[in-house]
Amino acid sequence: MNDWFTIDKIDAKTYVISEYYHPEETHCYLLLGSERAVLIDTGLGVSNIKSVVDSLTSLPILVITTHIHWDHIGGHKYFSDFYVHSAEMDWLNGKFPLPLETVKEMVVDHCALPDDFDINNYELFQGVPTMVLTDKNIIDIGGRQIEVLHTPGHSPGHCCFYEQDRRWLYSGDLIYKSCLTPFIRLPTHLRLCVLLKR
Ligand SMILES: [Zn+2]
Repeated sequence: MNDWFTIDKIDAKTYVISEYYHPEETHCYLLLGSERAVLIDTGLGVSNIKSVVDSLTSLPILVITTHIHWDHIGGHKYFSDFYVHSAEMDWLNGKFPLPLETVKEMVVDHCALPDDFDINNYELFQGVPTMVLTDKNIIDIGGRQIEVLHTPGHSPGHCCFYEQDRRWLYSGDLIYKSCLTPFIRLPTHLRLCVLLKR
């Protein structure tokens, strides 16, 4: 039982895994196909998101990354198969644009973190992706296709993920409730599948 995350079911094969106890209120999405599952982002990494994912599916998990900000890649350490956009590859290799101490301050920002998490042991995730995301790529997980849309603006390698069949757009940090100007103009037929961050 993991009570750090909140799980909401969007439909029979789609879940939102949220971190409402942190000011960033990061939302990760779990999409179940017939052959494998996709996890869009992995959150802060202060609690084990893989244990939550494993409680929802036994399918092999592919992690795809909207962008390499600390609150979206923290749980990548629990997964061996993950994709990122090439524009931020070096952020996973020692070139993240913020000092570690600054990130730590944001991680502990005004919230009660899980008891077994120690900020002194926190490290920014570093690693080598299994594949690079490219604009217009289609990721097929069996009966379900996810299109990659490169949407720089919030960060240079930011991607949204679009499901044509459901007409759902997983928008990452491209769309905020507060001040953030989207880089792209969304087609009017899109229905947004987003839980907005503050
Ligand atoms: Zn971000």
